[in-house]
Amino acid sequence: MKPIKAYEVYDGGDNWTIVFATNSATARREGAGEIGCEWEDVDHCRRKPALDQYAPGPVPPLALIEQGWWYECGHCGCRVDEDMDDAEPDPHFDASEIGAVAVGQIVYCSHSCAAMELAEKRSRKVAQSALIELVETKFPGSTVTHVNVYGHHLDAKQGHDLAYFTFPGGQHHATYKFGEGDSAWVSQCDQDAFRAAYRGGEESPC
Ligand SMILES: [Zn+2]
Repeated sequence: MKPIKAYEVYDGGDNWTIVFATNSATARREGAGEIGCEWEDVDHCRRKPALDQYAPGPVPPLALIEQGWWYECGHCGCRVDEDMDDAEPDPHFDASEIGAVAVGQIVYCSHSCAAMELAEKRSRKVAQSALIELVETKFPGSTVTHVNVYGHHLDAKQGHDLAYFTFPGGQHHATYKFGEGDSAWVSQCDQDAFRAAYRGGEESPC
C-alpha cells in the first residue's frame, strides 16, 4: 500500500481544504469535490509534509494555524492566526489568556471566548428545554419534535424562537412561535383537528 500524504487544495478564492491521498491527482479531485469547485478551477494542490502525521484527518486546527491558516474565533469572530501573540492585548482580559484555543474543530481567540461560548450553549439548551415544556403544557398531548432558539435565551419580542410539534389528530407539524400566546400555525387541513383539540389555531397554507 502506498503511503497516504497530506495535500492542501485551494480554489484561489475563499475555499481550501486539506486532503489525504496517495497521489496529487487524487488529492486534487477529492479536494475540488470538498470545496465545491471543478478540477480545472483548483488554483493549487500542494504537498503539506508537516501534516502527514494527521492522516487520515481531520487535522487539529492548531496544527493548521501553525501552517499559516487562520480561523475566525467561534465566539467573537476575530481573526485567529499564528501572529496572534503580537496582537494588541485587550485591556479587559488577562493578556495571558489570549491565544488560540481549539475545542474539537472549533477555534477561539482566547479562553474567555471559549468559556463564554460554552456558557451560551448551555443557556441555549436550557432555553430549548423551557420552550419544549411550555408548548407541551400549552397544548396537552402534543409532542415537540424540533425547536429553534435563535439566541441563547428565549426572546418573545423577536419572534425568532419556534417549536414544531405534532398533536392528536393532526396530519402535519404545527408551529408555535414563542411570544404568540395560545395560538399556533396549523396546516389548513389540520384546522379542524386543532380546533377540536385546543379551540384555537391560525391558518397557514398547507
Ligand atoms: Zn474571540
